[in-house]
Amino acid sequence: MLSQGDMDTLYMREALRLAEKAFEEDEVPIGAIIVSRGKIIGKGYNLTERLHDVTAHAEMQAFTAASNFLGGKYLRDCTLYVTVEPCVMCAGASYWTQVSRIVYGAKDEKRGSSKYGSLYHPKTEVVAGVLAEQCGELIRSFFRNKR
Ligand SMILES: [Zn+2]
Repeated sequence: MLSQGDMDTLYMREALRLAEKAFEEDEVPIGAIIVSRGKIIGKGYNLTERLHDVTAHAEMQAFTAASNFLGGKYLRDCTLYVTVEPCVMCAGASYWTQVSRIVYGAKDEKRGSSKYGSLYHPKTEVVAGVLAEQCGELIRSFFRNKR
């Protein structure tokens, strides 16, 4: 049996794969998946450049995909895995979904929502720092290439 921690690492690797896809497409490399009862029901990666849309964050797309899959707006019994700490917009969107858990990788000191206090739904459990090193390194190497 895999522990919760093992599962979290496994799913975070999936989210990282999506972040790498974003990287290849010259988008800020952040990936997200939503898992419900052992099944991936939503995926997304940052597409703000391609879509010319500042709301096209990985989490927003994963929320939309998961809600479409479930046929309902609430994501109870779901876990969001995202490679970087959600921003204010995505934390706010997660509030409306009432998602059960959020697991993120690297902390975002500049744009992470935690600096504004907890914007998550009171029922949402938040776990930080899963594969933080790999998730953060992908972002850093992206911005290194930009300079
Ligand atoms: Zn966001």
